[in-house]
Amino acid sequence: MTEAGAARRLEGGPIAAEIRNAVAEDVATFRADTGRAPGLAVVIIGRDAPSTVYLEQILRGCAKVGIEARFVELEGEATEAAVVGRIDELNADPTVDGVIVQMPLPPTIRLRSVIDAIDPDKDIDGIHPLNAGLLRLGYDGFLPATAHAAVEILRRSGIELEGKEAVVIGRSAVVGMPAAFLMLKEDATVTVCHSRTRDLAAHVARADIVIVAAGRPGLVDGAMLKPGAVVVDVGINVVEGRLVGDVDFDSASAVASAITPVPGGVGPLTNALLLTHLVRAAQRHAAASPVSSGTR
Ligand code: NAD
Repeated sequence: MTEAGAARRLEGGPIAAEIRNAVAEDVATFRADTGRAPGLAVVIIGRDAPSTVYLEQILRGCAKVGIEARFVELEGEATEAAVVGRIDELNADPTVDGVIVQMPLPPTIRLRSVIDAIDPDKDIDGIHPLNAGLLRLGYDGFLPATAHAAVEILRRSGIELEGKEAVVIGRSAVVGMPAAFLMLKEDATVTVCHSRTRDLAAHVARADIVIVAAGRPGLVDGAMLKPGAVVVDVGINVVEGRLVGDVDFDSASAVASAITPVPGGVGPLTNALLLTHLVRAAQRHAAASPVSSGTR
């Protein structure tokens, strides 16, 4: 229990900075060993998509640590075959270690076709069924970066997870479900709530840890929380021109013992962890084909 308003703010920025410094060192070692930089390709379909700003942030983050990242742009009217064909080329390109595809896709392109096309060894945001399956089995594949960040911010903040009652709100393939599996891996007891859950408040009321990833501003407030609960707010919403999460921060901070802010919580960590995934992919590729990567 904490005093009213005394919840600890779990800031993602300092943790992300630590991770980025470690990545920069790993990249320098990789470059010295292989004579090349780790490479990321970001596939963009139609320049004016809303997530372009987020993807530009990723590119800048890569440049800062010595990763060679580039946009691979297709026109907004590109066919599914053209997108899949471009991904195939990137899969075969030895200078590309990781591939991410801008989401959401245009309505004419099936998500499943794109997901299946990405080489699982280059799938640094863990969306391919193979990586989802590895996570489900508790093995070590590539994790979706946002779910990874939601759990990593707890671990790195020293929050005990073993045996805790955790409620994850949201069951998407990219955030809610992988976060739930990661919490199970940390030995929490996990309940997944979603849009058809009958009494969300009753579930939240008994949670020691609440991870909220619904995309609904104000879905969780202080009155719903158990005193001393830890809250991870994954939501990103724009309300009256302001960026807010899914949790009513002021009322929740009065009851929680710790809470991630929006912005500044899970978001910065997501980008930093994506870089660690990319470096890991590059290291694996270099180990698998040392001759072709050591040409200089
Ligand atoms: P999604 O729309 O795919 O899934 C939302 C989930 O929330 C669904 O499973 C749905 O059942 C559940 N839900 C919706 N309304 C609900 C309600 N009233 N009660 C209980 N459950 C409800 O969204 P997503 O891709 O999983 O993203 C979730 C949120 O996380 C969004 O706000 C998104 O912007 C944000 N996000 C943040 C980051 C980050 O880096 N912080 C990255 C990706 C997504």
